[in-house]
Amino acid sequence: MKLSGSCLCGAVGFRLEGWVSPIQACHAARCRKATGALYAPEIAASSAQFNWVGDTDAIASYEAPILHEPPAYKRNFCARCGSPLPVVLEDAGYAIIHAGILDGDPDLRVFRHAFTAQQSPCCDITDAAPQYEGQPPTPDPTELNP
Ligand SMILES: [Zn+2]
Repeated sequence: MKLSGSCLCGAVGFRLEGWVSPIQACHAARCRKATGALYAPEIAASSAQFNWVGDTDAIASYEAPILHEPPAYKRNFCARCGSPLPVVLEDAGYAIIHAGILDGDPDLRVFRHAFTAQQSPCCDITDAAPQYEGQPPTPDPTELNP
């Protein structure tokens, strides 16, 4: 699958090919704070075919303190406009991307809800996707969109 995305001001973008997960709606308090949204619409994508485009000097990072065990909770964002940007986890082999910064119609939908124990009181889950009170199992990349 070929996808692209960019920040609000357009300074930083990315292109990716290879496997992409459907959207995980993450209701964790940290993810809500990091996005300003009632849940974070996260996708995972192959880091092997992930490429930044534009001004990579504009990529800023923040690492929140570790809660239980490493790795740290890392957030990337555009230093100019503040849009959330992908976090590429080379060792794990994937990138985490907020679906709202993807261009066009990526043909992805919410397939599950994570950390619903921390769900915002303002958020009603109205779809039939499976709900996990905590961290769901890691999907098998071979079963995802090629
Ligand atoms: Zn920007």
